[in-house]
Amino acid sequence: MKTGVSDDIATLEDRQLSAHVTLLGGVRGGKYPHGNSLCVAGAEESLLIDPSLSLDARDALPRVDRVINSHCHEDHIAGNHLFRDVPWHLHELDRPGLESLDGMMEIYGYAGPSGDYFRKALIDDFHYVPRPDAEPFRGGDVFDLGGVSVEVVHAPGHTRGHCCLWIEPDGILYLGDIDLTSFGPYYGDAWSSLTDFERTLGEVRTLEARHYATFHHIGVVDGREAFLARLDRFSSVIHSREQRLVDFLAEPRSLDDIVSHRFVYRPADPVPFADAVERRSMSQHLERLIADGRVREVERGRYLAG
Ligand SMILES: [Zn+2]
Repeated sequence: MKTGVSDDIATLEDRQLSAHVTLLGGVRGGKYPHGNSLCVAGAEESLLIDPSLSLDARDALPRVDRVINSHCHEDHIAGNHLFRDVPWHLHELDRPGLESLDGMMEIYGYAGPSGDYFRKALIDDFHYVPRPDAEPFRGGDVFDLGGVSVEVVHAPGHTRGHCCLWIEPDGILYLGDIDLTSFGPYYGDAWSSLTDFERTLGEVRTLEARHYATFHHIGVVDGREAFLARLDRFSSVIHSREQRLVDFLAEPRSLDDIVSHRFVYRPADPVPFADAVERRSMSQHLERLIADGRVREVERGRYLAG
């Protein structure tokens, strides 16, 4: 997730969450482009979830039998290249992103010069390597590691194939980029869906775990009560973006006006792809406001609330 936030914070310490699960803390607390990876070790096998860019700086890497990606975004696969000798797995709907760089670029949908820039960044900064033999999984699939299992919970919206991972008997739910930050849900790529994200938020709300692990700087939330409080705040950002859009449409505005006003990022956030993300995110809000009769097109390409 690209938040554009640049606070200086320390590397998160590794933390043993349970008998089988260790959080490998990320540089800058796991803030983008870094993140926190999860190592799950059973009696027979072990696997690593979302190898992050932060693993590059480590003297020693965990020995694992598989890599699992919660979804195909640059920051979640940035450490995959350190584990080339083992199988990589991800949801079948995000698999095109590991098959080829072109497939990866389709997930974002960036066009023109910003697409060229990002294509280069994927290779230079995020160590992208294609993996045409990446193995697809689906919701409900289970990795049995011997005394501990990892079940796939399909949780689309952020990307089509975004998944949570449910680790038992440890009672840990890995949330990937349902990252519980104050930034809120990210649905700004071509393969993101606001509607799916909202459905997913309702579904994860029902899941009772002892620990809820996120990839970015919130890290691990202990206990369901604390999780629900954070989840509600996280989810409420969707409503607040939509309300701010309705307020902005008190006079007729175009989609270009909406993009330059900024609803997802703050105006000063130095994010190279902010315009594309604002356009994709806020056009989804605009479409449903029109469908609900709360906004209408008063002249060609100009929208008004009420
Ligand atoms: Zn992501």
